[in-house]
Amino acid sequence: MALILAVLVLLRATVAFLTGACNLFHLIQILKFIPPHFLPGHHAERGEGAGFCIFNNVAVAAAAACAEYGLERVVVVDYDVHHGNGTQVCAWLRA
Ligand SMILES: [Zn+2]
Repeated sequence: MALILAVLVLLRATVAFLTGACNLFHLIQILKFIPPHFLPGHHAERGEGAGFCIFNNVAVAAAAACAEYGLERVVVVDYDVHHGNGTQVCAWLRA
């Protein structure tokens, strides 16, 4: 349940940021409520969890932002020490 909640919080925060309901500072404050090990889910690939990541939260949020707001590009800033292989695969699949 917490993993699904993390996806929903990130989606809601993305919408709030894109609609101007919050700024980057607020967005960072919101994301502090998600336990770090649930963000960003960067090892999970499409249809397959990996590296303790079940859902690729950031890829879901990026895809939703592109689909709902017509964005052509998004930037993912991933500060985890590991390569975000799942996020990379998700981005390649969308290209
Ligand atoms: Zn990692």
